[in-house]
Amino acid sequence: MLVGVPREIKTHEYRVGLTAGGVRELVHHGHAVIVEREAGSGAGIDDAAYRAAGAEVVDTAAEVFARADMIVKVKEPQADECRMLRNGQILFTYLHLAADRRQARLLRDSGCVAMAYETVTDDHGGLPLLAPMSEVAGRMAIQAGAHCLEKSIGGRGILLGGVPGVPAAKVVILGAGVVGTNAARVAIGLGAQVTLLDASVARLRKLDMFFGSRLNTLSSSMENIESAVLDADLVVGAVLVPGDVAPKLVSAEMVGGMRRGSVLVDVAIDQGGCFETSHPTTHASPTFVVQDVVHYCVSNMPGAVARTSTFALNNATLPYILELADHGWQAALIGNPHLCAGLNLLHGKITHKGVAHALGEDY
Ligand code: NAD
Repeated sequence: MLVGVPREIKTHEYRVGLTAGGVRELVHHGHAVIVEREAGSGAGIDDAAYRAAGAEVVDTAAEVFARADMIVKVKEPQADECRMLRNGQILFTYLHLAADRRQARLLRDSGCVAMAYETVTDDHGGLPLLAPMSEVAGRMAIQAGAHCLEKSIGGRGILLGGVPGVPAAKVVILGAGVVGTNAARVAIGLGAQVTLLDASVARLRKLDMFFGSRLNTLSSSMENIESAVLDADLVVGAVLVPGDVAPKLVSAEMVGGMRRGSVLVDVAIDQGGCFETSHPTTHASPTFVVQDVVHYCVSNMPGAVARTSTFALNNATLPYILELADHGWQAALIGNPHLCAGLNLLHGKITHKGVAHALGEDY
């Protein structure tokens, strides 16, 4: 199969769909790869590395789209890219179609086989191609929160880990999934006092066994949330109700009761956010202040660490890319129901129940 990797064109997107190592694996499996010139430069992978791995580097996205049997990307295709897709061509990337009627229409018009990373499933009920970006965002949440606690940003002017003779900061994490667990790991590593809340006691039990006495766990009742948030220096919002908007666990009134200069990092902002006072921000202007509390609500946190994110994403996607390339999409989807769950559109028809429901279409 001929696999094509265009340069990402969405604003401030620096990741790339395949690393040079990914190219090498595909070539080893007998496939050919074409990569658009400078597709990997934002992630620190130059054209020479792609050539050394066996790819052909071409000048334009148009050539990649015209020749490839499968397009591998990171972000949803922009309108110009959708128009270059053709009937029967495989597109494998993040799509997030549920909230994007225009893209759904353009993909339908193309007749392509649209496979979404975010709806591929696994044996444990997880979303394996979403998880690596949640790992990145969870770890970054503490890094971002620590920075926001600095005085110049409007924070309380405290160091997460404290120093001998001065107490460490109190970090509260709402949601003990992939983001929450990774945030806890980094916060504990920096020496903060960490409390993790989740609606699932089974989940908390698991993390309690893992982190031991370095982590406090609390079940996510209104009372527990309120007392933990009011006493926190940094609160990370990391809850997810799959397919739904995030529950608003922290009211504006609660934010008003927090200490001046405290920090909220709302990772769940891509699902609407779990603080009533949140609204999405960008890496160019990541923070705002409400009632003297600093809010960090960037909706594409992994984009800031494009190189780490590219490698993390490729580690997760490559086995599925190889499956599609080795067997062709029909045999690959019949052979792997979890990969089949990634199919969102086929020959102009929506094939994913959740996406169809969200768009109000027949399934
Ligand atoms: P996950 O499914 O692994 O974890 C979510 C957790 O929230 C689960 O443990 C669940 O039990 C818990 N939860 C649900 N309702 C709750 C409630 N009322 N109280 C307490 N806990 C509750 O999800 P994840 O991968 O950790 O992702 C979390 C959020 O972060 C998602 O909205 C995801 O889209 C988002 N995210 C954002 C970025 C970004 O750049 N901003 C990047 C990656 C992920």
